[in-house]
Amino acid sequence: MPLISVTDLRGRDLSAAQLRAAVPRPELDVDAAIASVHPVVAAVRERGAEAVLEAGERFDGVRPEHLRVPAEVIERALAELDPAIRRALETAIDRVRAVDAAQRREDDVVEVIDGGIVRQRWIPVERVGLYVPGGRAVLPSSVVMNVVPAQTAGVSQIVLASPPQKDHGGYPHPTILAACALLGVTDVIAAGGAQAIALLAHGADDLGDGTLLDPVDLVTGPGNVYVTAAKRLVRGTVGIDAEAGPTEIAILADESADPRFVAADLISQAEHDPLAASVLVTDSPRLAADTEAELAVQVPQARHADRIREALGGRQSGVILVDGLDQGLAVVNAYGAEHLEIHTVDAPAVAARVTNAGAIFIGPHSPVSLGDYAAGSNHVLPTGGGSRFGGGLGVQSFLRGIHVIEYDERALDASREAARTLAAAEDLPSHGRAVEIRFDGEGQSR
Ligand code: NAD
Repeated sequence: MPLISVTDLRGRDLSAAQLRAAVPRPELDVDAAIASVHPVVAAVRERGAEAVLEAGERFDGVRPEHLRVPAEVIERALAELDPAIRRALETAIDRVRAVDAAQRREDDVVEVIDGGIVRQRWIPVERVGLYVPGGRAVLPSSVVMNVVPAQTAGVSQIVLASPPQKDHGGYPHPTILAACALLGVTDVIAAGGAQAIALLAHGADDLGDGTLLDPVDLVTGPGNVYVTAAKRLVRGTVGIDAEAGPTEIAILADESADPRFVAADLISQAEHDPLAASVLVTDSPRLAADTEAELAVQVPQARHADRIREALGGRQSGVILVDGLDQGLAVVNAYGAEHLEIHTVDAPAVAARVTNAGAIFIGPHSPVSLGDYAAGSNHVLPTGGGSRFGGGLGVQSFLRGIHVIEYDERALDASREAARTLAAAEDLPSHGRAVEIRFDGEGQSR
């Protein structure tokens, strides 16, 4: 049985919507997950910490002594961190900080007319809840990817949640705690999945140790389908970032690509989750065949071979044969993959024609794995086609633009007619009156 299926789109002239339907998609039933996590979210809203602890016992098989991780546990995790991991985390932090520093926004000021100013102030969200996965794999890199942009934006209150681990007394994995310590994050909650998202969104009067957890204003971070479902449920009560569910990689490649690299990169994302999507789009049947042969060599050597086989064999993964680069670009733009690699002749020019992707990786030396850890880019990226309407996590995710309007009398006078006319056109004469009253009594206006 082949490791990965092949879809042949050659000679078919399909619209963007038809292409979207033709590309492999995960059987990710968020609606079903919403039904299953709804009682968890409701219980946390009603009963707070105890409901979180019960859900942790049920889904993670452990109940931490304290939901809020004690300071000494976080400090010990940093003290005992392997120096090589510490250096790697520091490299990742420095690089993401460098990229994020360039994303800071200055206020924009526009003098619309003489004496009439509209300013846009960029204000950080005050209190945020950051989710860091820790189910199948614990992801300390996701601590960096959540925390650095929030801090760069100027967020003043950060709470981070990550699943309790059986082998670590019910607290999040020590590497996650150490990454928090490196970044100065001290409020860490030992909770995962929907219960963590609900707790961040609704807060709790007493975390079980007499301390309070105030609700946050915004929840961000990647996670599995239950995390995604819970984020949809709390949206509105709090803000959420783009849905960053099971990972996806699409590779657009031509004959010039190295099948060893292509296969390794498809495998690297399949390693995350049996629901992960690995898609190769190519106009080269030879590259497709060589990549399949490489997969047959590399998959059995992988530590998580079973999970990888499941992901590659799922209906969300596959090889798509196209007529040429134009059709290939139409396919990847219709797909809007979370991660898109370009392995073609003149890859930068091809990448410039991509309009939908969470992040684009150009050429043979920019693998997605680099972006997962240490490129400086963010790895919390939209999945499920969300790149058509949203971007990945960044400084802007933690900022709000507020318009500040300041007109003087002369500028208002010069704007009277437009306001009055539109007010009349909308049959809202009191709107017009609110402008005109300022000019009652010619020559005596205040
Ligand atoms: P996770 O932390 O997202 O989920 C673990 C939690 O799921 C557990 O704590 C548990 O409470 C809950 N859970 C497990 N089974 C459940 C059930 N049957 N019902 C209700 N809740 C249940 O960790 P994970 O599972 O390893 O998933 C991490 C995901 O994050 C992967 O799919 C990975 O691809 C994705 N990811 C995405 C991005 C991105 O930017 N798109 C980045 C990193 C990771």
